[in-house]
Amino acid sequence: MTTDTALFPDIDRMAAVEDLVTARLAEARSAYRQRPALPEAPTQGWFDELADFTFEQPQDLQPLLDWSIDALETGMVHTTHPHHIGLFNPAPTFPAECAERLVNAYNPQVCFWSAAPKLVAIEEHVLRQVAQRAGLPRQTAGHFTSGGSEANATALWCSLTAAEPRFGQDGVAAFAGPPVIYTSCESHLAWVKLAHTTGLGRNAVRLVATDGHGRMDALALEREIQTDLSLGHVPVLIAATAGTTNAGMIDPLPACADLAEAYGMWCHVDAAWAGALIASPTRREALAGMERAHSVTIDGHKWFAMTMGAGMILVTRPEILEQTFDIDTMYMPDDEGSTNYYRTSTQWSRRFVGLRMFLSLANAGWSGYAAHVDHAIALIDRLVDTLTDAGWHLANESPAAVACLVPPEGPESVDRYLTAALEQGGFWISKAKLDGVPMLRFCVTNGRTQAADIDALAQFLKSQMYEAA
Ligand SMILES: *Cc1c(COP(=O)(O)O)cnc(C)c1O
Repeated sequence: MTTDTALFPDIDRMAAVEDLVTARLAEARSAYRQRPALPEAPTQGWFDELADFTFEQPQDLQPLLDWSIDALETGMVHTTHPHHIGLFNPAPTFPAECAERLVNAYNPQVCFWSAAPKLVAIEEHVLRQVAQRAGLPRQTAGHFTSGGSEANATALWCSLTAAEPRFGQDGVAAFAGPPVIYTSCESHLAWVKLAHTTGLGRNAVRLVATDGHGRMDALALEREIQTDLSLGHVPVLIAATAGTTNAGMIDPLPACADLAEAYGMWCHVDAAWAGALIASPTRREALAGMERAHSVTIDGHKWFAMTMGAGMILVTRPEILEQTFDIDTMYMPDDEGSTNYYRTSTQWSRRFVGLRMFLSLANAGWSGYAAHVDHAIALIDRLVDTLTDAGWHLANESPAAVACLVPPEGPESVDRYLTAALEQGGFWISKAKLDGVPMLRFCVTNGRTQAADIDALAQFLKSQMYEAA
């Protein structure tokens, strides 16, 4: 019997290949700006190469790594490019990259205390610090998630468990009437698929109107709750958004907390992206009211700039997490009285996600993150100033680093600018619709983007204006 040396090479061979990978990464990093921000479309030739990997014969690792690096270089939108002024996907922090490398090598299991007591304690500590910074009460507990979607799902499951003690045993049928949840029509619409997969049904989601500025209209929300009550529905959850995906708008969090309290509902704040504002002493006020929520979603892999797969859910009623996810098995160790994430979350086997946030926060401090957040906002303000001076119209007033702008030629010209920016300008920007009106959307998520990049973008867009021609 022999060990497969491809899967488990000796230490010298591993070190040699790792050196090679490190060298290739250094090349890639020095070319942040050189490569196009946009991916190439895969050619037939490339698909043929892919199909040839039938895995019948072993192959050398080195050419496989080269092939994979080429796919990464040419086959993705580069969020590490300073001209990625795009969706919420960040360029990762360096401490997060270091954490990933360490965790890869050790591959710890953090789903139960005795498997990794110090590592579980590190995650708990980070989550407590983030909760404290967000103003949440002392008893707040939580866990790392695959992302905002899992965190929001956790909030939904907790709200149902809290609303109806028999939900856990009997499911939705335990409710006196059909349970309904409320979020704004500008929310991250994953709530709709969560309602589907949770068994509430898509019709259980009330997409509440906004106030004309992309924020949930609290009066419309209360009217919908009252209508539902009169129809025998059971209002369970208000899911407020702090930092909408389109326009970075923040729902009226104090009013949402008031209504949840008045009607005995769970109040959740989805701050997946804009939650990072907690870092900035001058900006965090925008999130006032979030501290009254029963649960909060903050994604590490958005504005905190973690590598992908690092969300957080914070819950101020830890007993509800336990009621929702608790399970007793023969085969798991008896770690009674300690933190066992497999009993307080939907995941079982669990990656040590929290080290990325720990190293990033410890290395940069909250002040480093405050600078990161303020820098992004200052860059967006700079872009807005330049373009509005040139006749563009700002359609959102977000306290965060996202701007939605209509070109002077009007909404019909949005696609023309978008195509030009992507194909000729080398800028990755996106498009949004507010109240049905198309516009260009600009969001700074890359800590390496500088004023010169923003000026180049503004210059490029101005060069595309008809009057400039
Ligand atoms: C990104 C985002 C989500 C979804 O989070 P994932 O990490 O992509 O699963 C949910 N809500 C808001 C407001 C978001 O920005």
